[in-house]
Amino acid sequence: MTLLTIDVTIRVSLSGVQKTCLALVAAAGSFVAGALMPVDPPSEPATLNLTNLLKPAVKLDLEFPGVKAIAIQRVEQWKNLITQGEAQERKRRIFSSPASFQGKIVHQAELVGHEKVIALTFDDGPWINTTEKVLKILNQYQVKATFFWIGKHLKLYPNIAKKVVAQGHAIGNHTWHHPYSLNPSEATKEIEETATLIHQVTGVKTSLFRPPGGVLNNGLSAYAQQQKYTVMMWSADSKDWNTATSTSTMIDNVLRNARSGGIVLLHDGGGNRWQTVEALPVIIAEFKNRGYKFVTVPELLQMEENQIKLQAK
Ligand SMILES: [Zn+2]
Repeated sequence: MTLLTIDVTIRVSLSGVQKTCLALVAAAGSFVAGALMPVDPPSEPATLNLTNLLKPAVKLDLEFPGVKAIAIQRVEQWKNLITQGEAQERKRRIFSSPASFQGKIVHQAELVGHEKVIALTFDDGPWINTTEKVLKILNQYQVKATFFWIGKHLKLYPNIAKKVVAQGHAIGNHTWHHPYSLNPSEATKEIEETATLIHQVTGVKTSLFRPPGGVLNNGLSAYAQQQKYTVMMWSADSKDWNTATSTSTMIDNVLRNARSGGIVLLHDGGGNRWQTVEALPVIIAEFKNRGYKFVTVPELLQMEENQIKLQAK
């Protein structure tokens, strides 16, 4: 039998993705079914990487009837996966609050007869050391959380911020300087400049705003609401912002106020947060023991929105 070596190049036009061409190396006589590329969707849209997705090179025996057709079918599947991944990615990166929550102040979700869910939130980052430690713990326990960033910290640590987004966590705006009192034009600047930098660094457009210190009467919340942000408060305060709070008290503060649909206030930035880092695995493990599922704030809002729509029917 004569073996022919043929190089086949299939060019795939991928809408929305930078033009990429996929080369399939075909070597006659060495077809192995198992060598066909995997079609599992990428588990993490943020790290969707064409090069990885399209590896390894495929060996095809063109004398085998139907092999070329299979290859073409697989390419179509990959294209679909990429399109789906892109759509998910876009949805995740450009988050606008569900209609019921635009311009509203939210302390927790009101979920009826729902599985137990809770949203962990981390404020005042991104921050050197602690944000990455928090990320590591969240990753270890497969938990997605929501991070409310301060613009001036984001400017200092853009690479840490990118890691947060790459790991699939949600992002909110927490002003540029973390002010407590300011005039209306400063309020606009605090929110807009932070929003611009978040977008520049990560591609994320968020409609979540958390007022520094939870202060609702200094013009920040008013501006955010006018811009259709959802002003995100919390239902359980760990009080980790006070360095006098011990790790065990933080844990107790969170768990004592636990309820389904709840939002937990923690801090990964703005100071030495080693106690938060120490408390986090205990908090997560105990919530898991109690049967809670962790969701991001956008997921939490969407759950309540779905419930509202269902009730309306
Ligand atoms: Zn804060």
